[in-house]
Amino acid sequence: MKTEKCTAIVLAAGQGKRMGTSVQKQFLNLQGRPLICYTLENFQRADCIHEIILVTGKESLEYCRKEIVETYGYTKVKKVVEGGKERYDSVYQGLLACQGADYVFIHDGARIFADEKLISRGYEQVQHLGSAVAAVPSKDTIKVAAGPEHQVESTPDRSSLWCIQTPQIFAYDRIRAAYDKIYESDRTGITDDAMVLERFSEHKVYLFEGSYRNIKITTPEDLLVAEAFLKAEQQEKSV
Ligand code: C5P
Repeated sequence: MKTEKCTAIVLAAGQGKRMGTSVQKQFLNLQGRPLICYTLENFQRADCIHEIILVTGKESLEYCRKEIVETYGYTKVKKVVEGGKERYDSVYQGLLACQGADYVFIHDGARIFADEKLISRGYEQVQHLGSAVAAVPSKDTIKVAAGPEHQVESTPDRSSLWCIQTPQIFAYDRIRAAYDKIYESDRTGITDDAMVLERFSEHKVYLFEGSYRNIKITTPEDLLVAEAFLKAEQQEKSV
């Protein structure tokens, strides 16, 4: 049986303005290593992943090639490519750089806790359903509100609400065909990859079990939480 080629696109081209630091958040030092290293390590370790494409800003291409990929020995990183203004622009550059991929794992570099188990759960599903988007049930009640006074318009039934994470995993041809269409259309409000498939294809999108630890490190308090999770992981490993 032919081995199916799995490529991970790791996104690290965001400005990270919400972190409020001079160093971009994906390169902040977390317990002795740049944050992006934790993410790359998870994909490097995952058996199902054959190659990784790292997407970063023009100013960080050389830094990533030398100080991250070479220094830490991430042998699965085959290309470091320049991202774009919006997240979807960066994803598209990653998709263009994929060669011969059967499945693509699109992942926010800022989610450092998507471990091998989570990655392989997603892989199992994408083989059957053609998509696998990491998600967890919403713990909070979510309301739709509008206007300057945030007037509540509705409260969707919580049991059907999911908080969406990455990796978002797709059959390559499907997501590429959908992404090819977005530049001819209205792209406003596209915040994840599943939306591209939902809007620009007939294919259904399916969720799989993510993890409450799989946070996107975005604001300073997320760093504190991430440090606590890392400490907990170290303790779990030492027992
Ligand atoms: O901005 P947001 O929090 O949605 O970013 C999620 C991920 O996408 C981050 O890892 C960020 O570095 C990446 N990103 C990117 N290119 C952009 C914007 C965000 O690679 N233009």
